[in-house]
Formats: sequence, structure tokens, C-alpha cells
Amino acid sequence: MPVALKECVWEALGDELVLVADPRESVTLADPDGHIAALLTELRRAPRTARELAAALAERGITLSEQDVQEGLDGLASLGLLEDAGQATLGDPALDERHSSNLSFFGSFADLERSRADYIRRLRQSHVLVLGVGGGGSQIVPCLAGLGVGAMTLVDHDVVQSRNFNRQFLYRHADLGRSKVERAAEWVREYDPDIEVRTVDRWIAGVEDLRDLTAGIDVMTGGLDGERGSHLWLNETAVRAGIPLVTGGMMRTQLIYCSVDPGKSACLRCHERALPGERTTAGVAQRLVRERPFTNALIGPLTMQFGSLVAYEALRYLTDFEPPRAAGAYVVLDLHTGLVPEWQPIERDPGCPVCS
Ligand SMILES: [Zn+2]
Repeated sequence: MPVALKECVWEALGDELVLVADPRESVTLADPDGHIAALLTELRRAPRTARELAAALAERGITLSEQDVQEGLDGLASLGLLEDAGQATLGDPALDERHSSNLSFFGSFADLERSRADYIRRLRQSHVLVLGVGGGGSQIVPCLAGLGVGAMTLVDHDVVQSRNFNRQFLYRHADLGRSKVERAAEWVREYDPDIEVRTVDRWIAGVEDLRDLTAGIDVMTGGLDGERGSHLWLNETAVRAGIPLVTGGMMRTQLIYCSVDPGKSACLRCHERALPGERTTAGVAQRLVRERPFTNALIGPLTMQFGSLVAYEALRYLTDFEPPRAAGAYVVLDLHTGLVPEWQPIERDPGCPVCS
């Protein structure tokens, strides 16, 4: 297979070659005869096979067998510098331009086994359920649309109100009084007509209301406002259906998100079971926090950050470019500590009625 050299720069320094691909670090290789530099130069000119590269090097006066070149390529591959040349794009100029940054992003994770095109195709074949298109969801939806997920099902039962304009940027004044899911779906269709959008205009009042929404879904995202314990309905639905869930919430000064990887991570019911009892000081304090009158103090920059973190964790599940970072943990970003993420792992409960 012809291989391509990923983005990198190099310079000879005496008998060594200093090479930078990931800007955080450099690699130094012994290259006394300049063969590696010549191989890199030939690869930079055009993607090729080991045999073609051996011929090109011979023209430069460097005699190496195809086997020698293959060993050199194996070394470069082990440094993550090579990818499948035929799969570095989607092969359709319009789609390649539409996904140019997405392709570049996955270039960092592509190798000879998994290509940039594979990652994008996987996204284009995926279907994400977005629960709620208010503060969090109306940020998640544009992030997923930009990534080019193939399909979304949007669930909400609210209408656009002027108080949404603090932070819900999918909606315009002309939309006042309109169904949020309908407007959000319209936004997605206008943004990228290739994305299929389904809307469900319904209040979710329990696990039963979620049951018919999971068919064909790859990842569940978002959260439901209002009723206490609604995160547990999502949790139970996700675990029983074997679908990863990325959810969370926003308190006055905190953004909190977490994910549940069914069969692998702890679930939200495990966490609930570990909470302090109602008759303890900590239990009473937690109940007071939950029950205190709540005025929504969330501004746009915070909801955008929340939505992007949820969408990015969903991206991990959808493409597997890296393992989920919030599986079985609450990740808390607090305004008072500079929004630096703090991981709070959830202990898996072997007696959990949902996940064990
Ligand atoms: Zn559990």
C-alpha cells in the first residue's frame, strides 16, 4: 500500500536528525549517512510504496533494498508518522473541503490501521440522541453538526422564550413561541443538509418515555431539566440499552459532566447509592443544595464550554480516537477555581441494581 508522511518537519544536526511532528516534543534519530532524511524527503514529495521509494532513493545514489526501505518505513510508522495514503481524504473534493479541519484533527490519530477517512465515515454513519435542546443541548447540537454526525434525534418539549437569548444561540427573536426542537432541527438542516434530523416534542417523565428513543442510537447526550432524578432515568435507559451516555449539569458556579460506558464503567446509580444517608449532616446539606430556590445564572460562555465538553466526550465514544475521559467519573469545572477540571471518580457498586 502507498504510505503518506503525516505533517512533520526535520533538520539534520551532525550525525543526527531532529524531527518534530507533535509540537509538544521532538524526536532525535541517529542518521549518520542521511538515509532517513532522504527517505523522509522522498515521502514528502509523494506517497509511495517501499518498492517505489527504493527506486527513488537509487536515483539519488542511495542503494537500499526494498526490505531496508520497509524497515525504515516500519520505524517511521512506529513513531506515528505514516498513514494510508489512499484514505487520508474522503476522495470527494466537496466533502474533503467540508471536513477539512475534521480530517486534519483525525490526522493526529490516524495510522496505517485507522485512517482519517475511517474516522469521518464513522461519524457520518453515527446517530446521536440529544436530550434537551436548551442551555446544554443547544450547544451540543452545533458541535455535533460541525463534526458531521450523520443523524441526530432531538428531544424537548419547550418553546423559545426571550430568556433563552442569554445562552441558547440556536434561537432568534423571530422564533419566540416556536417549538425548540423544530427550530433546532431547522438550524441543523440549514447548516448541513447531509445531516438527518428527527424531532421528538415530548416531556420525558420517566424511563418509559425514553424506551422507544434508543433504537439505532450510538450515543445519548444531554440532560433533562426539572425533575429530580431524571439523570437516573437516562442512566438506566443507557445501561439497559448498552448505549454510552454523556450527561451532566450546570450549577451556579460549577459545570459538571460525566459519562457512562455500559458494561465497563460505574453508572450514575452506583453514585447515588454511595451518597450520604438522609439523616446525616452531609445528606441534609446535599438535600438543601438540591432543594434551594434556583435562579439560572448561567451565561453563554459557561454553557458553551459545557456543551463542547459533552460533545467532545461523545466524539470519543463515536470514533474511539481515544478512550472516554469521563467514564465513571464526574468532571467538575468550578468558576472559583478557574474552570480547571477536577475528576471525581464514581466507585462501581457490585450491588447496583442497574449496572451490576
Ligand atoms: Zn451502577
